[in-house]
Amino acid sequence: MKVTSSLAIALAFGATIVAAQQGGPPDTPAVTVRGQVFTPRTILARNMGTEEDQTTAFTPHKIVGNVYYVGMRTLSSFLIVTPAGNILINSTYERNVPAIKKSVEQLGFKFEDIRILLGTHAHGDHQEGDAVVKQLTGAQVVAMAEDVPALQNMRPGGKDHPIDRQIKHGDTVTLGGTTLTAHLTPGHTRGATTWTMQAQEGGKPYNVVFASSLRAPNTLTPAIVAEFEGTFKAFRALPCDVPLGDHPAQYDMQARHSYIGKEGVLNPFIAGHACGEEADVQEAMFRAQLAQHPGGATAR
Ligand code: ZN
Repeated sequence: MKVTSSLAIALAFGATIVAAQQGGPPDTPAVTVRGQVFTPRTILARNMGTEEDQTTAFTPHKIVGNVYYVGMRTLSSFLIVTPAGNILINSTYERNVPAIKKSVEQLGFKFEDIRILLGTHAHGDHQEGDAVVKQLTGAQVVAMAEDVPALQNMRPGGKDHPIDRQIKHGDTVTLGGTTLTAHLTPGHTRGATTWTMQAQEGGKPYNVVFASSLRAPNTLTPAIVAEFEGTFKAFRALPCDVPLGDHPAQYDMQARHSYIGKEGVLNPFIAGHACGEEADVQEAMFRAQLAQHPGGATAR
């Protein structure tokens, strides 16, 4: 018995070392939000799922008005359809572009009609495929200035990352009567961008929020701490009826999707009451990480 428990402890300790060596997030601190316990490691696991989840298309579907989901099980891509062509938010990994194209076509639209490509933040799981989308569609690629250096370092297969228009906080992108506004919500990356627009459904306008990840990195520098302090405040002030995020788990996509067509449910994605839920989780974790390392030191 004693041997077994020592072995278990040794194995658990070994696993911690392996995780640290691989650069994965730690399993502390733990925070409880709405009865659910989160650690940095479980949040990342929730966001990413398995390798298969990251590369398998989720059923493409209409979200609200002219906004559609064309992404993977755990990596979001959104298509905004207008009479003057379409807008894509997030190309995800380059290897997913054919699956996104197929989802666009399953909805009855043409991939080649994508005129503008936007992104939520300069990490490969959201924007690695930009160069291939640009090649296939000729879309204008728009990037928040603060994320440009990180995007320029994203060179799958040695390709340059296309950037056709640099924007700053508050700038807008308009196509075919739809206008998206870029909100700089930094912390996760320097140029993390939350996009907002109004969609019309049943004769009513709805405020759609395409949130960037608000997840704090393992290492909190004073600059990143200052960014998050502003970001949580600004994010919560955005008018919001339809909360979306660059990982579907951030807005309970799979659960909401399962309610489509159920009796008495108008549109499960219209959920203004849920707009702050993901920020609650990420801010609680951010504050717990700060309490562990006051002054913004490293997480381990
Ligand atoms: Zn990220």
